[in-house]
Order: sequence, then structure tokens, then C-alpha cells
Amino acid sequence: MANPREHELDYPLGDALPLPGEVLEIQPGLRWVRMGLPFALDHINLWLLRDEIDGRGGWTIVDCGISSDATRVCWEQVFAHHLDGLPVLRVIVTHFHPDHMGLAAWLTERWQCRLWISATDYNLARVASASTVGMGGETAAAFFGSHGLTDPDSLAKIRGRASYYPSMVPSIPARYRRLMDGMLIDIGGQPWRCMVGYGHAPEHISLFCEERQLLISGDMLLPRISTNVSVVDVEPEADPLTLYLDSLERLLPLPRETLVLPSHGKPFRGLHARVDQLQEHHRERLDEVRAACAEKPCHAAELLDLLFKRKLDLHQTTFAMGESVAHLNALWRARKLKRHLDADGVYRFSPAD
Ligand SMILES: [Zn+2]
Repeated sequence: MANPREHELDYPLGDALPLPGEVLEIQPGLRWVRMGLPFALDHINLWLLRDEIDGRGGWTIVDCGISSDATRVCWEQVFAHHLDGLPVLRVIVTHFHPDHMGLAAWLTERWQCRLWISATDYNLARVASASTVGMGGETAAAFFGSHGLTDPDSLAKIRGRASYYPSMVPSIPARYRRLMDGMLIDIGGQPWRCMVGYGHAPEHISLFCEERQLLISGDMLLPRISTNVSVVDVEPEADPLTLYLDSLERLLPLPRETLVLPSHGKPFRGLHARVDQLQEHHRERLDEVRAACAEKPCHAAELLDLLFKRKLDLHQTTFAMGESVAHLNALWRARKLKRHLDADGVYRFSPAD
């Protein structure tokens, strides 16, 4: 959902964007790459950091783009023209989602280098690449059905989407190096601190460099759209929204001048304002959901119009359903709502006694 308070943020690079296959140098040794995506959200930002490992000069890549011929062509252009003739030394992936993880195997094989990622997201990527976790198939259709999505056409499409993740992430590197919260990584002679974030992916890692006042936020903090926070079928009682809001709080000690490098949208300053905006956004949504459930017991599907106020395609509907359940589960787990499995097999939520 677009950010109505976007004017509170500062975009120091203005409207400058890197063209496909090109880079935009933000600071010496920090280059911005932008790759296309075949969704309503049509791009992802990737980052190149000048590095040196074991005395060898080169680059660390942060995030990969989905596996597609177009993305590979863009990468080849970047390799040919924008690495100053140096190799890629390491690939860091913030989390397992296809736009971040997609080409990790291809990149690490091409450059004979290591993937660095959290253990949870590495292992989930392996499972998802070989199956259907949370992305489609019969279990996803049953989960959405239990939350009131009954349109046979949508359910048929969700059932048929079992290869959604593998189509964009066909393989996963056989080895990796584990990132953990609080770990310091030396990149180009400067320490970058791993900051874990929950609620969007199981163990998302953002990277903060104190010396340079830079935060590679991944998907945890985006300037224009709110980060997707979804309940998925493998963990139906999860409360990712509370986890996400708690993770945002943990960004507040960072310096005000921090330049945030997000995976979608443009680099910005104003992370404290953005955290405040997102907290307000979710507070309002939670209030609306609570009010709707006080009028009559509601299931997740009938809250979509209230929460999203626009027409959604199927890809957006599955994300929106996950978000709707996330708001309901947050209120349910906080004992503000109770839920009841009705005779039609659908959970409906009403005020807790
Ligand atoms: Zn993501």
C-alpha cells in the first residue's frame, strides 16, 4: 500500500535510477544495481560493495534477482563493464524470497565464491526450491479456504502454482556461510553488523555499517510500500505482524542520518519517520479489523476490501490473504479476538470475552 507520508522521507539521489545492466555509484565502492521482476512490484535493488578477501580485491554482491534470462543478461553486462575488471568474491542474501535468492547458485558457481545467508532462510530455500512451501499447491489452497477464500477459480490457480518458487529459484548452492544476529562482517575493511528481522521472512538479515551510516535494509524497511507480513500454510497460527513490529523497534537506535538502501524503491534518509509510519499504518489496520469483527464475526477473505481498498490480481490476492490472516492472528494471539471454526470449515473472528 502506497505511503501517504512519503514526503517526510528524504531521497538524497533524487529521481536517479540505474538503467538495466548499468550501475549507479552512490558512494565510492558502493554501487546500486536494479533488476526487473515480472510482478506488480516490477524491480529489485541489488548492491555491489568493493571488498577484499584474503588479500584479493573484488566485490561483494548483496541479493541476486530471480532466475531468468533477462536477469542473467543484466548481470553479464554489470560484470563486463562495472566491476573495474575485478571478480565477485562473495554473495550475501538478505532472505530466501525468490527475487533475493533466485540466482544465488548461478552467481556463486560462476565466480566460485560463497553464499552468506541466515541458516533458517538457507534451509527454507532448499525446501522451497524442491517443493511448494507457502507458495501454492494443495496445502496453500486448503489454508486460504479455511480463511474464507472460496472462489473456485482462484483456488484452482493456487493449486496449480505448486512450482512457483522453483520456477524462480531452480537451485540452491550446496554450501553456505551462516549469518547470525549481531555478527560483524568485514566488507572492504569496514565492519557491517547483521541485524535479524522477523515477520517478513523467517530470519531476514539487514546489514548496518556504523562508520558509513548505511543500512542495507532488504525488505524490512521500504520507503513507499509496506513490507509484506503474511501468515503462510506451514505455520497457520503464526503471529508475524507482532514479530515484524518488534523488529522495527530494534532499528530505532540507529543514527538519524543513516542512509537506508531498500530492496524496493529508492535509497532514503528518515528511518525513524518510516518506522513511525509503519507502526501507525499497522495500528490503524488492526483497529479497523477489530472494529469489523465487533460488528459481525469476520473471516480473512472478507476483510480484503477493508484492508486493501483496491482490485487485486491473484498474486496480490495470495499476499493479501496472508496479510489479512496476519492482522487477525495478531489480535487473536493478543487475546483481543477469539476465533471459531464454523461448520463450513472457515475460521471467523469475533471480540474476545
Ligand atoms: Zn522479501
